[in-house]
Amino acid sequence: MTVMPRPSILSVEPYVGGESKIPGVNRIVKLSSNEGAFGPPPGAIEAIRAMATEAHRYPDGNGTALRAAIGARFGLDPARIVVGNGSDELLALLILAYGGEGTELVMSAHGFMMYDITGRWAGCRIIKVPEKNLTTDVDGMLAAVGPRTRLMFLANPNNPTGSILPQSEVERLRAGLPDEVLLVLDSAYAEYVTQPGYDAGAKLVDASGTMVNGRAIGTTVMTRTFSKIFGMGGMRLGWCYAPASVIDVLGRVRGPFNVNAAAMAAGIAALAEKGWIEKSVAHNTEWRATMRDALTAAGIKVWPSEGNFLLADFGTPAKAKAADDALKMRGLIVRAMGGYGLASCLRITIGTTEECTMVIEALTAFMHG
Ligand SMILES: *Cc1c(COP(=O)(O)O)cnc(C)c1O
Repeated sequence: MTVMPRPSILSVEPYVGGESKIPGVNRIVKLSSNEGAFGPPPGAIEAIRAMATEAHRYPDGNGTALRAAIGARFGLDPARIVVGNGSDELLALLILAYGGEGTELVMSAHGFMMYDITGRWAGCRIIKVPEKNLTTDVDGMLAAVGPRTRLMFLANPNNPTGSILPQSEVERLRAGLPDEVLLVLDSAYAEYVTQPGYDAGAKLVDASGTMVNGRAIGTTVMTRTFSKIFGMGGMRLGWCYAPASVIDVLGRVRGPFNVNAAAMAAGIAALAEKGWIEKSVAHNTEWRATMRDALTAAGIKVWPSEGNFLLADFGTPAKAKAADDALKMRGLIVRAMGGYGLASCLRITIGTTEECTMVIEALTAFMHG
């Protein structure tokens, strides 16, 4: 006999992050993890530096100042915000608290990988619902719900497909779910969305428990992150907005100091950075369209995206691999999609103007070569 983890643990395929090195290549452009074209806001860099001399102090375990800043920036009640060590931590806490052995977790076939990984860790059975046109199929998601379903995850926009559901469809999804299913809206890319009428999730969170047409609306949680538009993936900072009942549960299961002091200080400074979101969105909107048009003109199918990345479809896995190699030759690292069952695709983060131009040149040359 030897020590053994719970059986479900051994079904977990460990998360493989975006690559960051190419052997023999000095100058690397990393466009594999959707990290935000401009890096961290200058004020956040200052705040991290300033916090170094206070590193012996435990952080504020309630994240009071950060929650107040998030609440003020997004018009939300700070009492209904919980901060986490990346939104990944909050996703995991929700799964551990509401899922576990004997329960089912429903997600879209090409939904974000961490739901699958963390769900297995918790012991949930993972149900992946086929998509239509690489977009979540609301009817399919609803049909997949059974008596053991306790959790449903929807990234909106979704990573890695870039697809989005309109608010009416998200509302139809929630309305069709039994009350005992917690709907988690993962809005990691919310700031980048340009589609009119988009709501990142607060509306449905606020609707939780209210009566509509004689029926109570079930419970919804929204998760957000500083890793994408604020370029702070390395700090590990995320947050969620949830009804009071979920806030209470998260207060019981999270670590007392789950977010470190430097991350919180950086988060507050990032939110205070004038014009940061506007500047980042303007750049992303421009270059997302420019790159889409250029790659399309080069003969590559590009899926519509509301995030800070594009999913480029080369038709076959072999061609995608060759394109990936051609990019690597020029020091450009993008994300291969085999792990998502999209082996004919590459996911490309919208970087700086120079970086996007390099990708366009490399892939145009590749397609003509
Ligand atoms: C990047 C990403 C996250 C993870 O964000 P962290 O806050 O860095 O943990 C969550 N969901 C989706 C869909 C993402 O793409």
